[in-house]
Amino acid sequence: MELHDCRRILVFGGSFDPPHIGHVVLPMLAMEAIDADAVAYIPAASPPHKPDRELAPAADRLAMLQRAVADLGFAHVLSLEIDRAEQGIVPGYTVDTLEALRNELGPGPEFRLLIGGDMLRCFDTWRQPERVIEFAEPAVMVRPPDTSESLLSALPDGFEVADWRSRLVPLPQLDISATMIRERVRSGLPIRGLTFDSVEDYVFDQGLYRG
Ligand code: ATP
Repeated sequence: MELHDCRRILVFGGSFDPPHIGHVVLPMLAMEAIDADAVAYIPAASPPHKPDRELAPAADRLAMLQRAVADLGFAHVLSLEIDRAEQGIVPGYTVDTLEALRNELGPGPEFRLLIGGDMLRCFDTWRQPERVIEFAEPAVMVRPPDTSESLLSALPDGFEVADWRSRLVPLPQLDISATMIRERVRSGLPIRGLTFDSVEDYVFDQGLYRG
């Protein structure tokens, strides 16, 4: 379904460096759990939350994400943050991205912002978090080693537990991260099964993450 025609869209940002199976399985299940019609993947150009780490080139991360979700009808990969960075608009804050997306898609679709629990823990450091929530109410994926309760007990100051409890999405937990994949590549360990074969092939063909 085209994004314009959707009733509810899960907006899913990340560095996707590289994309892993959790980046596809969890949003797909989240989409069902909160009755959304599509997932809009938005790879970050230079994520404000990870300024200390050099990312693989945006073109590579975009290409890997496109491979990871190829043929999945619900998934839309949007390069607006990467495009804006190319026009010199950096860093790409989520609030600005959501505003741009709202302008592009018009008032029709409802947005929900899909984030992992690690992002919730630092949500108060995001630019204009209240405005982010107005644009797109968060939908939170609890991420190991957290449980729902440990995450809710570690909310930033002033965040209401009841509000955020209702934003947790019932999902299986998956202890997989892009960091794990990069470290395994650097150590010469296999990554098959942690990501998609097409992404694995890309990583090795391009010689990414060798360190
Ligand atoms: P890195 O290890 O490089 O920090 P990552 O695995 O967290 O990467 P990102 O591209 O940063 O991957 O993640 C995009 C979004 O998906 C973030 O909101 C992140 O919290 C969430 N996410 C990633 N992996 C998981 C997971 N296994 N469970 C729940 N949420 C996840």
